[in-house]
Amino acid sequence: MYKPGQKAYNEANIIHKAVQTNERGIKNCQSCGMPIAKGDKNGTEANGTKSMKYCIHCYADGKFTLPDITAEGMKERVREKLVSMGFPRFMTGLFTRGIHKLERWKS
Ligand SMILES: [Zn+2]
Repeated sequence: MYKPGQKAYNEANIIHKAVQTNERGIKNCQSCGMPIAKGDKNGTEANGTKSMKYCIHCYADGKFTLPDITAEGMKERVREKLVSMGFPRFMTGLFTRGIHKLERWKS
């Protein structure tokens, strides 16, 4: 039986929790759901300060790194990332299903 690495599992679980508890102020990227609470994964604003909303993969120099991506496209990207970390694909949907509720995708 396939067993994902503990690190991949922890990361996926954090994303899952961050998406679920978003409204209660857990710090996570409002584009992809990745945790940014530790302060080392924040994106940057145009003036060089840290973004409190978005991670370094989504946001740099005040702009989205992928301005045209959709919420569905983002889900797929995060799923690919989890799979690349050793997580079984059939489970990745669980951890990405709340992404469309994040602030970037509300309109
Ligand atoms: Zn992000």
